[in-house]
Amino acid sequence: MTLSISSANLPQASEAANRANNWQGLIETYRNYLPVTDTTPVVTLLEGNTPLIPVPAIANIIGRQVKVHVKYDGLNPTGSFKDRGMTMAITKAKEAGANAVICASTGNTSAAAAAYARRAGMRAFVVIPDGYVALGKLAQALLYGAEVIAVKGNFDDALNIVRSISEKYPVTLVNSVNPYRLQGQKTAAFEIVDVMGDAPDWLCIPVGNAGNITAYWMGFNEYMQDGKSSHLPKMMGFQAAGAAPFIAGHPIPDPETIATAIRIGNPANWEKAHKVQQESYGEFNPVTDEEILDAYRLLASEEGIFCEPASAASVAGLLKVKDQVPTGANVVCVLTGNGLKDPSSAIEYSVNETYQGIEANIDAVAKVMGF
Ligand SMILES: *Cc1c(COP(=O)(O)O)cnc(C)c1O
Repeated sequence: MTLSISSANLPQASEAANRANNWQGLIETYRNYLPVTDTTPVVTLLEGNTPLIPVPAIANIIGRQVKVHVKYDGLNPTGSFKDRGMTMAITKAKEAGANAVICASTGNTSAAAAAYARRAGMRAFVVIPDGYVALGKLAQALLYGAEVIAVKGNFDDALNIVRSISEKYPVTLVNSVNPYRLQGQKTAAFEIVDVMGDAPDWLCIPVGNAGNITAYWMGFNEYMQDGKSSHLPKMMGFQAAGAAPFIAGHPIPDPETIATAIRIGNPANWEKAHKVQQESYGEFNPVTDEEILDAYRLLASEEGIFCEPASAASVAGLLKVKDQVPTGANVVCVLTGNGLKDPSSAIEYSVNETYQGIEANIDAVAKVMGF
């Protein structure tokens, strides 16, 4: 007997599933909210549409019916949220006729800039702090075909250099001081509201240059004005304790943290970030490297979610201020980058170790397993 499946027996694909399956990238999807026209040459790798995943083990630690989701932006094409900004920045650079782009980067911006610039047929120059870029990110920039320049300085030095170069020479700056970056990045807030049906009560987010927190706030506000949400979230930004200028109230000359993506002492979006904090009744708080690593391991081992250390700052921060979360609140933590970006940290800070030198036979392996 043959088993026949007629299409009539299959459940109707929901509107959401249709949308997901026909995803054309964030510029097409949110075109009405973005500075593009019908003739803009869209450069896309179909970024965006990343999952909003429930994290019950983390919610249980808080209790009081608090619901927690993570926006897993590590599933973008180059593995971080930087793709959201880069599709816009490179699209607009192409529209303006640029042949080359430049950025300073702690790693993820360079990976995204390299991928989108090369796809658009442009040269990509990336200036990175020598020795402080995670292995996966460097590997990406090189293989995508960027021209990587490692300087003996930190991110802040690198940003100063590329800003000056872009003023003097015919290269377009694609750091988050480029306004199109934030335009693209704000779409993450749209996606959260589209999936949840409303804005969350809290948004927890790692803060480096503070472009992303600024972009999310812009997105939540635009959707609210459009009647797509009933309220705005409280914006909770978290900086690594060794790189926490917003908590200190002044730039930090020598920022230090294992979370290299947020190892930034003089954030480019200083004023904008403080406006976000004031308007949203939000807060900036520090998280130590130890707290970041605890959250990093917890997300992987309890939830099955592998993010990079900087991303875990959002969850570390939520757990640090958990007593402030209103009972029953909806919380979203942004996981900015994929764990595979930084395999060295994963191996170094993992609690488990590989059993080594085991004989290749069943008895030896079973013994190690405890049988
Ligand atoms: C860039 C980046 C951040 C920081 O974002 P800002 O917009 O600079 O505040 C955080 N996490 C990861 C993984 C990043 O790549």
